[in-house]
Amino acid sequence: MNSCCTQPVEVIAADQHHSESCCLVEEKTPAPARAECPLSGTLSRKVQRRTLEHLLKPERAAAIQKVQYYYCTEPACNVVYFSNEDVPFFATDDVSVKVFVKDQGAEVPVCYCFDWTRARIKQQIRETGKSTAALEIAREIKAGHCACDIKNPKGECCLGDVNMFVKEAMQNFS
Ligand SMILES: [Zn+2]
Repeated sequence: MNSCCTQPVEVIAADQHHSESCCLVEEKTPAPARAECPLSGTLSRKVQRRTLEHLLKPERAAAIQKVQYYYCTEPACNVVYFSNEDVPFFATDDVSVKVFVKDQGAEVPVCYCFDWTRARIKQQIRETGKSTAALEIAREIKAGHCACDIKNPKGECCLGDVNMFVKEAMQNFS
C-alpha cells in the first residue's frame, strides 16, 4: 500500500503528482532505461518484475526470467513485455487482463485499481455531462489504496490515460 502522495487531490487528479516516488517505485537496475520492442521497434520503458508476476497468466508466470523487462506501448503490436536480453517475450494472450493500449474494447479498464472501464467513463459522461473518474481515483491514491504497479499492465499510474480518455469522450459527446 502506498501512502506517499501528500499533494492536493486536484493536483493528483490532473496527473501532476510525482508518480516516480508514488505509484511507480522503479526498481534500480543497471539495464538501459529504454529498449526497442523486438516486433514493432517501439522505444519502451522499464517495467518492474512484480508487474509481470501479478499480471501474467499463472501458467506463463514460470517463464519469467531474471532479466530487465520493458513494456511496449504500441497499440498495433502484440508484444506486451520483452527484454533486451535473449529470452522469450510475453504477448497480449499471456496477460490475464486486457491491455488498455492494445485493446479498444468498451469493457477494457482505463484504471485497473478502481475498475473504471471505457464503458463506465462514457456512461457517466452520457448521464451527467462530466467525469468524476480522475478525482475519485486521486482520492483513492491519496488514501493509499492504489496498486498500479501490480494491477495496471504498464505498471504505472493510470491518470494520464484516464485524463486523455475523458477528454476524448467529452469531445465525442459535445
Ligand atoms: Zn511492440
